Amino acid sequence: MIDRDLLELLVCPACGQGAGLTPTADGEGLLCARCGRCYPIRDGIPILLIEEARIPPGPAGSRSSSTGNG
Ligand SMILES: [Zn+2]
Repeated sequence: MIDRDLLELLVCPACGQGAGLTPTADGEGLLCARCGRCYPIRDGIPILLIEEARIPPGPAGSRSSSTGNG
């Protein structure tokens, strides 16, 4: 369990938005409401590292198409 006072201090290192607790497959995580990154919590310690965060799937239509007509 994480103290609420501590949660208020936790911000997303990617965008600076406050992150909130969210249920995950492993237990709990910190979800950023702005960029959607989900940071893991290990042994009650939130891992606020961009490298450790799970980046949400981007918006549909992210393929690169190449047309050779022109
Ligand atoms: Zn963020």
